[in-house]
Amino acid sequence: MTQNGLDYAAPEGLLTGRVILVTGASDGIGRAAAQTYASLGATVVLLGRDLQKLEQVYDAIEKAGHPQPAIIPMNFSSATQADFDQLAVSIEQELGRLDGILHSAGLLGDITPLEMYDPDTWDDIMKVNLRAPFVLTQTLLPLLKRSPDASVIFVSSSVGRKARAFWGAYAVSKSGVEALSALFADEMTNISQIRFNCVNPGGTRTAMRARAYPAENPATVKSPEEIMPVFTWLMGPDSRGVTGQSLDAQPPRQA
Ligand code: NDP
Repeated sequence: MTQNGLDYAAPEGLLTGRVILVTGASDGIGRAAAQTYASLGATVVLLGRDLQKLEQVYDAIEKAGHPQPAIIPMNFSSATQADFDQLAVSIEQELGRLDGILHSAGLLGDITPLEMYDPDTWDDIMKVNLRAPFVLTQTLLPLLKRSPDASVIFVSSSVGRKARAFWGAYAVSKSGVEALSALFADEMTNISQIRFNCVNPGGTRTAMRARAYPAENPATVKSPEEIMPVFTWLMGPDSRGVTGQSLDAQPPRQA
């Protein structure tokens, strides 16, 4: 049996009947996860800031014959508590339950020395990468508590585990995400069945990766679809009992 999800092969219908919210569902890892979860029977709630891109994901899921998804457009840079509250109401009224969240939305910000880092960019990165996963999870806890087997996945980064020069607010936000996941797990262990874990995707072929490493040959990094096993394992019942972990979606790269 898999201990870390790396070699997990999801059985058909693994997530049937579950409602799963995916942030950053319009692109990259979030989009691949939304499509993967839907292909395993979940009703996915697609959250992102670009309605047109979300509609394309919606159409792809419908066309594939998976359960009809829902779309919630929201920009984490400007979202208010009222927006988060409304999201909880919409999920409850339209779908009646929530069994999981994948917090994939993220922004890179500037790759530059702290000495020159723009404080406004800093604030925006913190809002999108750290504040939004916190407030969204906090606001949705009452719904998650009612699920018999809820799973929350935060998305970290290698620079969230060990900061590297020039990664600025992104590194700080991701180390905060690691702490946020551990805190929720620790605080909720004895009072709920909700599981909270953190995943470092490792280098993955997305728009963000291309911005961070413009000189890299994209063919040398995995596609979002290739790193799905951990995300699938953690979201489904086969990882019951796993909480407070910080996992990798890829084995460490050979030097
Ligand atoms: P992408 O840039 O491909 O996707 C990021 C997603 O977040 C998009 O859907 C984007 O929306 C959304 N998003 C960005 N800003 C906001 C906002 N203000 N409000 C709401 N949604 C927003 O990145 P990845 O798929 O690569 O990244 C997914 C996660 O994985 C991130 O948390 C990232 O930090 C992490 N990660 C990625 C790695 C990689 O190599 N790719 C490595 C380590 C960690 P839109 O489509 O409008 O841009």
